[in-house]
Amino acid sequence: MISYRRGGPLVGEPRWYTHRSMETAVDLGTRDCVEILGFPVDRVGVDEAMERIARFVREGEPRVVVTADAAGLVLAQEDPEFASIVRQADLVTPDSVGVLWAARRVGKPIGHRVSGVDLVDLVCRRSSEEGWRVFLLGSAPGVAEMAAEQLRLRHPGCNIVGTRHGYFPADSDELVAREIAAARPDVLFVAMGMPRQEKFIWVTRSIIRAKVAMGVGGSLDVHSGRVRRAPRWVQRLCLEWLWRSLLNPKKLSKAKHLPVFLWRVLRYRP
Ligand code: UDP
Repeated sequence: MISYRRGGPLVGEPRWYTHRSMETAVDLGTRDCVEILGFPVDRVGVDEAMERIARFVREGEPRVVVTADAAGLVLAQEDPEFASIVRQADLVTPDSVGVLWAARRVGKPIGHRVSGVDLVDLVCRRSSEEGWRVFLLGSAPGVAEMAAEQLRLRHPGCNIVGTRHGYFPADSDELVAREIAAARPDVLFVAMGMPRQEKFIWVTRSIIRAKVAMGVGGSLDVHSGRVRRAPRWVQRLCLEWLWRSLLNPKKLSKAKHLPVFLWRVLRYRP
């Protein structure tokens, strides 16, 4: 079991990691995690992640889920506020082939990616069975509504209690949070890109009090049908990130984090 000091460098932290913003220990309890670049990543497949989410919904306390990809962990190393959120999250899923590779490298392999796109779909399926109240926040105006429509078609009875676009300044966070709180969601998906979405979730969690709040990046674009997932064979080769990067030049800026991630993982000594 790993215990993380919030803020201070982890033992063996690389020299370029200089942030010292957090002070006390984070207890990972019974979580089975692998440490990647100083962050805990849960060794879960999609079914275990869903079990964990269902438990969070049953327990009722506000919980935070991060879907961690390679670019996200690089960003977290450079942003102390984001780093602190990743370390304190209740579940950090392995959301990229780079993260799977890093886990294998330290002898703690994880079987498969657990992506935001998949979790949105599975939570909506569960919502249609158990009535979970789901709120979709983020993406350009109209996208969350289109995603809600598609998800309701796929999972009839899915209880999406609200949608809102993600283009507002950080000084409106509290206002937006109060709007969302009025819809009393059990599960809140925030699709505003990393680390903006995680910061929104963190600062508003005690206002919204969703039982699960999760950053899901471009997932609503995919569920709305605006952006297509890569063909199955590309997904099987774990190259969906490359496919999406080639189709969307904005994503290329994210792909550039991958060599940085590989280099840092190779040099990292826990
Ligand atoms: N987005 C948003 N508000 C912003 C900036 C971005 O809602 O201020 C949305 C954007 O429209 C897109 C998502 O955030 O739907 C980010 O998607 P991306 O695939 O870049 O996120 P990633 O999965 O790479 O973190």
